[in-house]
Amino acid sequence: MNYDTLFQNALDGLHADGSYRYFAELERHAGKFPKAFHHGVGRDVTVWCSNDYLGMGQHPDVLAAIHKSLDESGAGAGGTRNISGTNHYHVALEKELASLHGKESALLFNSGYLSNWVTLGTLAARLKGCVVLSDELNHASMIEGIRHSRAEKRIFKHNDLEDLEAKLKELPLDTPKIVAFESVYSMNGDIAPIEEICDLADRYNAMTYLDEVHAVGMYGPQGGGVAQERGLEHRLTVIEGTLGKAYGVVGGYIAASAALCDFVRSFGSGFIFSTSLPPMIAAGVLASVRHLRNSDAERKGQREAVALLRKKLEAVKIPYMPGQSHITPVMVGDATLCRELTDSLLKRFGHYLQPINYPTVPRGTERLRLTPGPLHTEEDLDSLISALDTLWTELNLPRSVA
Ligand code: PMP
Repeated sequence: MNYDTLFQNALDGLHADGSYRYFAELERHAGKFPKAFHHGVGRDVTVWCSNDYLGMGQHPDVLAAIHKSLDESGAGAGGTRNISGTNHYHVALEKELASLHGKESALLFNSGYLSNWVTLGTLAARLKGCVVLSDELNHASMIEGIRHSRAEKRIFKHNDLEDLEAKLKELPLDTPKIVAFESVYSMNGDIAPIEEICDLADRYNAMTYLDEVHAVGMYGPQGGGVAQERGLEHRLTVIEGTLGKAYGVVGGYIAASAALCDFVRSFGSGFIFSTSLPPMIAAGVLASVRHLRNSDAERKGQREAVALLRKKLEAVKIPYMPGQSHITPVMVGDATLCRELTDSLLKRFGHYLQPINYPTVPRGTERLRLTPGPLHTEEDLDSLISALDTLWTELNLPRSVA
């Protein structure tokens, strides 16, 4: 059997339905972001789709901390956390993250994906009879973790309290339950009714698991996320976050009670059997978290850039999905047009965006997802808006009515 033919057939299927993903080879240069050199077009472009929302990936404090710890500790961690891979930077970072969220403990993972996969997988598998109630728009990492646990799963309609309550009601009060949801949903940019979900969870005896991946660093007086902004951190059993988006580096974590973190540390095989993050990464993240606990300037600049972008989109009547978060989805509604738009933006105008197509979003809701940050200038915004305006006319795309 020629196995490569089997692989190729599957890939051909992706090409046929337009969902094959191409890499853009981007050379980021510290000090120049959001400009980056795009190898495909051989020039500097402006990046509008980065999850380094605040530019912390090039912040001098972060870079200095990484350099210092690299010189002190060398490149890698040298082992799994339980054997020889626990460095003082891991410990300091876990303490910082626990304190950021007002929790007893925190536990680091190599990515946000792993923190969801391992934590939900471990809790749901190890708590006998556990049922997971999962928002229908939850991220793949949560879905896969729940699937891996083989626990019973009930999917509730997105941010729908009535549907969640109906599903909770069907379960006996003494059945262990987890309500798993996100604060900021990354493709729509909408925000969950966290307080009301916690009220329901209390009423029906459920734990709450909140993915704040798109919110940590971004919301709350110290960047603790939407739960911190709304004073709700104590109501959540687990807060999960990434260190790769607003914090600008890489890694993931949970913050929760000491017993829960110890439970995942002790039973989660994806945690136990994997080499831990390099100390320099933990040191860089620590600098980033500390900086964003004390400085509001990046969040403020980011909010101003979003407000300005939306004002300028409105002025040329380009439709976007309004929402309370920093994510601005510009609606196109067609996969081919979406790709044509991003191709032309890149090749003719030097603006880099990825089209967001099926299966990431439902067919007919294809879109551009814009995440301007504090380092985009008004000139960058004007140049993007003028390019969009030209392409909207050329492709005969519908304008929004005021
Ligand atoms: N949760 C959500 C909601 C995400 O969007 C992502 C990343 N796109 C993750 C978890 C995974 O985080 P990381 O990139 O750190 O693996």
